[in-house]
Amino acid sequence: MEGVPHSGPRPFGWQEDRITLHPHEAALVRQAISDRIGGKAARAIARDWCELGVSGTRGGRPNAQTVTQIITAPRVCGYRANRGVLMPVPGTTEPVSGQWVPIVTPEQWQAVRATFSLGGPYPRGGSGAPRSTAEKAKPRTIGSGLLRCGAERSDGTECRGAMSRQKGRSKRSPYVYTCRSCRRCSISGPLADEALERLLFSAAPVHASLPESVRRRWRDGDMGVEEKRRTIRSVLTCCVVRPGVKGNPSWDHARVRPEWRSAARAEASAVDREPFRHGVGGSP
Ligand SMILES: [Zn+2]
Repeated sequence: MEGVPHSGPRPFGWQEDRITLHPHEAALVRQAISDRIGGKAARAIARDWCELGVSGTRGGRPNAQTVTQIITAPRVCGYRANRGVLMPVPGTTEPVSGQWVPIVTPEQWQAVRATFSLGGPYPRGGSGAPRSTAEKAKPRTIGSGLLRCGAERSDGTECRGAMSRQKGRSKRSPYVYTCRSCRRCSISGPLADEALERLLFSAAPVHASLPESVRRRWRDGDMGVEEKRRTIRSVLTCCVVRPGVKGNPSWDHARVRPEWRSAARAEASAVDREPFRHGVGGSP
């Protein structure tokens, strides 16, 4: 909140005091941001920097990733992020500013960020929201956003809370889906994804069965995760997950109960299904 500089190594573009600009590096960052907004590849900028003999503040050779980090960091426009997330000054919508001299304007920083598909720098999930950079690296899985919690509430109804992906603890389940609402239901990620796939391929009602061409591409590994997710979405509204039995290590695919789209809805979304390759149909 006080806008004090980060500890750790000196950020590229500033002097050791982390407040005043390093004239040469700051000029490079300003130029890189403007080049990037103009359409230049981060890789090409890194190559320029290497040719100029530039090295990072810890001595490393610039590469596309480090250049991207440097030019998209909120600090370049004076914003002080906390764990990669901007915090507003209490009572306002203005982000907290750092005490250092900025290299570009907030508008230029927004523009350069927009050239990369980074997550937003503003907090969504409140405290503990993931770093936007970490989020970008995290590959999505086919079940994320599709699973609902099937734990029973005290009034006898189903929780139906959204289940989100978290890190798992075992080799067999490197990730798990857990109910964000009641936290009483959790399922091995690979188990849930496998169950989803089985449902799609062998349990779909006639109106929801996938065309052979789609099945083939899926089986042959020609489909990316996002396309698989759209495919699932076109025939399933969601799947409800029954809580597992404590101490039972066997994989029970029947814990995942499908809720198929009605025949009418499946028909309507089949129209969207045709141009799959072009990314029609929103992801949630
Ligand atoms: Zn729940």
